[in-house]
Amino acid sequence: MRQATRLLVLTCSLGLLLSPLAGGATRPRRARTSSVRRARRTVPRRPPGPPALVVPVAASARDVAVSEAARHSLGDQQGAVVAMDPYTGRLLTVLNPYLGLSTAYEPCSVFKIVVAIGGLTEHVITPDTVYNCAGGCWFWPGHGPINLRRALAVSCNPYFEWVGEQLGYDRIQKYAHLLGLGSPTGVNLPDEAAGRIPLSVPMSRVGHLSSHAKGVDTTAIQLAVLMSAVINGGIVFEPQLAGPAGFVPKERWRLPPQVVVGGLTEGFLAAVNEGSAANAFDPDVIVAGKTGTCAGVGWFASYAPADKPEIVTVVFVRPGTGHVASAVAGRLYQSLYKVSPATTATAGY
Ligand SMILES: [Zn+2]
Repeated sequence: MRQATRLLVLTCSLGLLLSPLAGGATRPRRARTSSVRRARRTVPRRPPGPPALVVPVAASARDVAVSEAARHSLGDQQGAVVAMDPYTGRLLTVLNPYLGLSTAYEPCSVFKIVVAIGGLTEHVITPDTVYNCAGGCWFWPGHGPINLRRALAVSCNPYFEWVGEQLGYDRIQKYAHLLGLGSPTGVNLPDEAAGRIPLSVPMSRVGHLSSHAKGVDTTAIQLAVLMSAVINGGIVFEPQLAGPAGFVPKERWRLPPQVVVGGLTEGFLAAVNEGSAANAFDPDVIVAGKTGTCAGVGWFASYAPADKPEIVTVVFVRPGTGHVASAVAGRLYQSLYKVSPATTATAGY
């Protein structure tokens, strides 16, 4: 098991430089809110360094292909990419761990997944419940009558504000924690940030939190665990960077059986096919996911192939938008599933 903690860190430019983050000596493990706030403040002042690509020591050819695809897809944009097997929690690669693991940012509209799960589980909504988005949305005239599938696809703000206000913050907080937010995932990599789920939120701000995740901070790796739990039926994994040979999954917990994680996939698919993640669309590679855009950052938490998920990726860009992040993910999936079919044939799944 110790093997998994020995990291092979590649850099874009030189190939064998050790990442200053991989040593873990200069940054204490961040597990408290105040530390997260400090980290967020310090990020803008940090000069961009070479991208660090972290892959397992015993990486398979498939792992290496995913890592290279992540690096090429992100290009020279500042950001991070995390790739994980949703059924085991095995991490295939982390590109730029400083931004993907060691700092936490507002997850923006990706947090709507938490609100949707809470709303479905607590019977506030069903997939067919229709809300009338009559304005006050990012889409100026409003989306009109809208159900969960469409609300996820176009990231309708009033819909999720309405669901969140009916849930109330205590229940939103409960589902955020259940899905692994607000605490370290326990990944076997140094300097993991805990992120932040507020202890309390005034009722007047619950709507804005539900649509924009205002006051919430998450890491890309936490969102990869969350998206994996949605796909795998409720297993919240402790991610492990390790090769596929002899891999033993570690579960943090399983969601209580009454928690509804189904009913979202149509919305994730629609986001790519007709919504905010259209940049990830490709007729030959079926991708599904949820974008997030706020405060100058962009997210796309996604998986592919959508009908039989093999890989979850979370793309974070800063500065950027969900549109930009989904374009990065689209390129990544296309390079894995379209350009090099010979490589996918060697998949270690
Ligand atoms: Zn709307």
